[in-house]
Parts: sequence; structure tokens; C-alpha cells
Amino acid sequence: MAASMHTVFIGLGSNLDDPVAQLQQAWATLKAAPWCREAKISSLYRSVAVGPPQPDYINAVAQVTTDLAPLDLLDALQAIELNQGRQRLIHWGPRTLDLDILLIDQEIIQHERLQVPHPYLTERNFVLIPLAELAPELRLPDGRNIGDLAAQIGNQGLTRLA
Ligand code: ATP
Ligand code: CA
Ligand code: CA
Repeated sequence: MAASMHTVFIGLGSNLDDPVAQLQQAWATLKAAPWCREAKISSLYRSVAVGPPQPDYINAVAQVTTDLAPLDLLDALQAIELNQGRQRLIHWGPRTLDLDILLIDQEIIQHERLQVPHPYLTERNFVLIPLAELAPELRLPDGRNIGDLAAQIGNQGLTRLA
């Protein structure tokens, strides 16, 4: 029997070592992964960093279909981060690549390694606005609509790249 397919949204971010190229490389790797189907990506955005002072981020959101189980997906994304030189130095510090699982279908996961929906999803315009670009009709498991949340949060510190 075929494993069930999941629709997954992934947040991409980088603020080190040519962030635009980092996101392009990550996107190429994701699209080519054997576990990845029907991939699409939002525009790229520039955002002012939260956390310690550091360069601006480049952000985007990708939508993929996969039959990977959630923790296997997390492992696959962390392998891509490491492959692009991710180092974990300071909490919320600068990084070459950050891949966050934002949503997996309408699932709610509370695991020590994985919380879904991503806990800060609704607080971050650099997540909500590209997410709404891909899927404005999408709803969170609690019923809130992504397009509405994106319209409410505003675009402070955020610029869409041409
Ligand atoms: P933030 O969660 O605020 O975006 P961060 O992306 O900087 O912070 P990381 O250092 O990249 O955090 O990840 C720390 C840990 O978060 C990971 O090792 C992973 O186990 C855990 N984690 C929990 N939920 C998720 C999720 N939805 N997507 C990715 N990692 C997650
Ligand atoms: Ca993150
Ligand atoms: Ca992360």
C-alpha cells in the first residue's frame, strides 16, 4: 500500500554567505529530493533580523508534497541545513540556512524535536506573508485563515524582492 501523502509548508531563511544563493541552492536540493513532489516556492523577501544584531535575512516559503513521516522530514531538512554549512552557535544567531516545518496538513505535533504548526508562525510576517502568497485560503488547525492573518500582521521590516 502506498504511504499517505502530506502537504507540507517549509520556511526558508538565510543571512550569511550570499543568502539569495543559499535559498536558491536549498530550493534546488528540495525540488530534486526523491521524497519531494509538486514543489512550489513563494517570492523571496528581505527581512530585518529578530534576535541578536545581525544582517538582514532572505526568506521564502516552499510548499511540497511528501510521503515522509514528520520526524523523517525534519531529519531530511536538517541534513540539507548541515550540507549548506549550518552551524549552531548562538540562539537565533546568524545562519547560512534555516529550514522550519511550518505546517503538515492539519496535524498538531507536540514532540521534543518537533512542534507543528511552527510555534512562531502567527507572529512572523516573513512567514505569514510568503505563506499567504502560496495558499491564501489555507487554515491553521485552529481554523484561522492564513490570508486574514497575513493581512493583519502588516509588512514592517519586510520587502519583497523583484
Ligand atoms: P525558531 O524556532 O524560533 O524559528 P530556530 O529556527 O533558530 O528558531 P533552530 O536552532 O533552527 O531554531 O532549531 C532548534 C530545534 O527546533 C531543532 O533542532 C528542532 O528539533 C526543533 N524544532 C521544533 N519544531 C520545529 C519545526 N516545526 N521545524 C523545525 N525545527 C523544529
Ligand atoms: Ca527558524
Ligand atoms: Ca530552525
